[in-house]
Amino acid sequence: MKLTSITEFIASKRDGQEHSADEIAAFTAAIVSGEAPDYQISAWLMAAYLRGLSRTEVVALARAMAASGYQYPLGHFGPHAVDKHSTGGVGDKTSLVVVPLCAAAGAVVPKMAGRGLGFTGGTIDKLESIPGFQVQLELPRFEEVVTNVGCAIVAQSPALAPADGILYALRDATATVESPGLIATSVMSKKLALGCPAIVIDLKVGRGSFCQDLEQARELGALLAAIAQANGRRLTIVYSSMEQPLGSAVGHALEVLEAAEVLRGAGPEDLREHCLAVASEMILAAQLVPDLPAAKALCRQVLQEGSGFAKFLSMIGAQGGDAEAVAQGRLSLAQHVRPVLTSDEGYVLSVDARQVARALQPLGATRQKKGDPIDLTVGVKLLAKQGEWVKAGEPLALVYANTERAALEAELILRSAYRLSSEACAAAGHSVLCVERF
Ligand code: URA
Repeated sequence: MKLTSITEFIASKRDGQEHSADEIAAFTAAIVSGEAPDYQISAWLMAAYLRGLSRTEVVALARAMAASGYQYPLGHFGPHAVDKHSTGGVGDKTSLVVVPLCAAAGAVVPKMAGRGLGFTGGTIDKLESIPGFQVQLELPRFEEVVTNVGCAIVAQSPALAPADGILYALRDATATVESPGLIATSVMSKKLALGCPAIVIDLKVGRGSFCQDLEQARELGALLAAIAQANGRRLTIVYSSMEQPLGSAVGHALEVLEAAEVLRGAGPEDLREHCLAVASEMILAAQLVPDLPAAKALCRQVLQEGSGFAKFLSMIGAQGGDAEAVAQGRLSLAQHVRPVLTSDEGYVLSVDARQVARALQPLGATRQKKGDPIDLTVGVKLLAKQGEWVKAGEPLALVYANTERAALEAELILRSAYRLSSEACAAAGHSVLCVERF
């Protein structure tokens, strides 16, 4: 595609027209070859964000993005291969738990994940808090790890879904994240590239996600299903609540440590139950058991035996990471730990996940510009969640910061995330709102 025609391509989306599959393939090739510079890609992203993408465009774009790097043939990793992805949340470390858990239960789980996007955290950034962990592997090494360990988690790279790597980083810096078409293509291009016959999507709904209500979520779900069906994939969508953060930890190293706790059979109950629900859907989708009750029983058994934790450590070691540091809970954490004390007493009515995510900005845990370095040692630990009673003077949360000033700023934001009530209120119920299987 010539530069002039890239301008026309942008203009046609700006004017609300539909792209053909050939045009989308040519633009995707221009993104990866470097022919389309960041400013043109960004302009197209904003046009696509504002005008939207049709179902036909979404299917074509997901395919082109998957084919922008090496694409494993469908079934390459065997009949029991299953992939998983979250549409993004706050404190969402589910992948760190369910990928090794399902591998320990007999599934094969090759996974491509992303970095932080918008206000949500990214699995790849979290894994980089483990000293030595390699998020980009040469393809033969990636396959070796998947074959030997049963799972691996890697980032987009020049070899795998490079178009998504480029678009993803630009969306993060250009306020073009919350678009159903751009989310669906980003997620599914990574899934199509790895060739798994079964895919489970944890589609987050609520303040701490990109879908504010179930109606918006179902719109995104329909696009994900269209891409899966057009490419012969079985798809399960788990719609789950993301009103308050998942678990207690929000922040990279803190979340890895919390995921390790869950894999050891401990950790926060909401996170553990959510991981068991998603893992059970993965085991069912991987066709390892005949029904959901059997999948649930298998996942609970594997968790109790601790073999998911052993898999997690094997995967970390195989990807060059310091598994011993994770086993001993020795990841670097920020120096200042500041309690967020409440002056009132009452029941926690809500903990606004979006505000909690905002508290991570002054700490340096999020990017403002493409490629910004981020601080993996900082974060927040929530000590009280919805439905719990807190006394005046007690800590609601802990802030992990590397400067006093950042700690203070985060504390102020975090305080505003909490709403207390004198009336007793229920704890958040089960995270899963509903499940669709295609
Ligand atoms: N996860 C992705 O990979 N892409 C998105 O756009 C959102 C979540």
